[in-house]
Amino acid sequence: MSCPICARDSDPKYRPFCSRRCADVDLGRWLTGGYAIPAEEAPETEAPPAPATPQRPQ
Ligand SMILES: [Zn+2]
Repeated sequence: MSCPICARDSDPKYRPFCSRRCADVDLGRWLTGGYAIPAEEAPETEAPPAPATPQRPQ
């Protein structure tokens, strides 16, 4: 998976982001309402997307 902010390879330490910086950018978007997801109540009508393939050691 690549970083959703800058599309570089993600770092396991900060995934799905590539760095702390991009994680902060994403957090900033949350705080500024960049995402249209209500913060109060998250309806769990759908399961989160799961990897289609089993994990393999790299
Ligand atoms: Zn990034």
